[in-house]
Amino acid sequence: MKKINILFVLLILFGCTTEKSNNNNFENTRQSFISSWWKQFPTSATTAGFHDYDAELLAYDKSCREADKAFVNAWLDTLSHLETSKLESNDLTDLALMKGALQSILFYTDTLKAWQWDPSNYNVAGAFADIINAKNLDSLQKRTFIQARIKKVKSYYDAAKANIENPSPEHTQLAIEQSEGVKEYLNSEVLNWVETKADLQEAVAAIDGFSTYLKTILPTAKRDFRIGKELFDIKFKHDIQSEWTAAEVYEKAINRKNELHLEMAKLTKELWTKYMNVEMPKDTLKAISALINKISDKHPHRDSFIQSIEKQIPELQTFVNEKQLLFLDPKKPLKVRRTPSYMDGVAGASISAPGPYDKDAETFYNVSTLEKFSNESAESYLREYNHYILQILNIHEAIPGHYAQLVYSNNSPSIIKSVFGNGAMVEGWAVYTERMMIEAGYGNSEPEMLLMYNKWHLRTVCNTILDYSVHVKGWKKEDAIHLLVNEAFQQQAEAEGKWRRVQLSQVQLCSYFTGYSEIFALREEMKKASSFDLKKFHESFLSFGSAPVKEIKKLMLK
Ligand code: ZN
Ligand code: ZN
Repeated sequence: MKKINILFVLLILFGCTTEKSNNNNFENTRQSFISSWWKQFPTSATTAGFHDYDAELLAYDKSCREADKAFVNAWLDTLSHLETSKLESNDLTDLALMKGALQSILFYTDTLKAWQWDPSNYNVAGAFADIINAKNLDSLQKRTFIQARIKKVKSYYDAAKANIENPSPEHTQLAIEQSEGVKEYLNSEVLNWVETKADLQEAVAAIDGFSTYLKTILPTAKRDFRIGKELFDIKFKHDIQSEWTAAEVYEKAINRKNELHLEMAKLTKELWTKYMNVEMPKDTLKAISALINKISDKHPHRDSFIQSIEKQIPELQTFVNEKQLLFLDPKKPLKVRRTPSYMDGVAGASISAPGPYDKDAETFYNVSTLEKFSNESAESYLREYNHYILQILNIHEAIPGHYAQLVYSNNSPSIIKSVFGNGAMVEGWAVYTERMMIEAGYGNSEPEMLLMYNKWHLRTVCNTILDYSVHVKGWKKEDAIHLLVNEAFQQQAEAEGKWRRVQLSQVQLCSYFTGYSEIFALREEMKKASSFDLKKFHESFLSFGSAPVKEIKKLMLK
């Protein structure tokens, strides 16, 4: 707590010496909001890299939920009395995010109630790992925090057990599987930090007890994992914060899918004889699928996978600069590296950015090596991330996608946006840049590139269709697999993985397409002005940080 108090005092002192008193008032509100938020939700603080409350592990019982709601209502009241007319755009977007985060707590606590039916909500391993891997704690601090925390694991799981009511079998099964991993993590990694071994044993026994209890209720667990239309609509509103409803976005996704199928059919006709020496099937979807399969033969070698990515980054930079699409800060080049072993679970590529409390750390583009892959799975992976798709992946993850967005959002630093940033805006931007680069002629507008882009984009579109259809329209597994394999041209294994994900999550799969659609629609609307400039549009859009697109829109149209 000490750290926050000192920071707070300093801000007040500086506040007296500058002219913009109103903004400094808001700065006080912002700081006191975030420090009280961490105190109220200590494990979230640990996850965000703010370690003052690492010793806390709250049992999520009735009194805890009541305290959360009282906290939320008090803050909603405070924020509703703020004088907003003189606030700058950066403050207005922060205010929207703060209110959104508060209202979400009420929804999750009182309406969605996943704390009752999703036992996988309860998992202590993540926060222990966050403490152990923290770069801004020394060994003594880690030891002290872990020692205090381990003693609270039992009451945490006691409360969890008491909360469970009519769970879904899928989430119960997941929690049982995860419990094994949690126990293993405590018995291996956490073990080294605990002084009294009896405390560790008690914690492991508590996890065991929870898992055993779940196994006894699993046979009678019958809640549908689908959350249904009513809850899906509200969850969509809270998680995505779009100006559209879930049903409207679903309609847009269906239209986009049909549009993409038409474009792909045209490209397939154009390319067929260049690649295939059999007659084109009458069934258009089958023809597209066969051609995609053939073009996927062109892919990098498994031994030079990282090098192929490394080589593309400067090419993307050059293209963005030459076409005047976005200013890229040359002082902040992206570093490509092999994914470090401790985070190398699934193959792929990801951006690893420093957290809000570790800002000086570097940003990396992590790429998994295929060293441990069998020949067969390496081949399948490389066909998926073939010559064309790999370039689109780099656009999405790096330039001008996630990495470029991150550099811009760090230029308008806001603790609120770092902590409560809008996922649909962040993912939507990355998906939008894929289309924007293709429109600008990336890849020399080769029909092969266009076909592969459409396939990649179709995945985003079908994620939305799948999520909505399963949870709202009651789709079964066959319907889901049919969509993904026959209409989105995915491999069986990928489709099976997506089916698992849609059973365990809700709404998140819609975020990519929703954010993309909102950004695209905003650009098309602004294009109507004669003074429209694409580069300026991108730079202005990104200057607001990771706020919901509808909030950015209000400010840009002002
Ligand atoms: Zn091959
Ligand atoms: Zn992404």
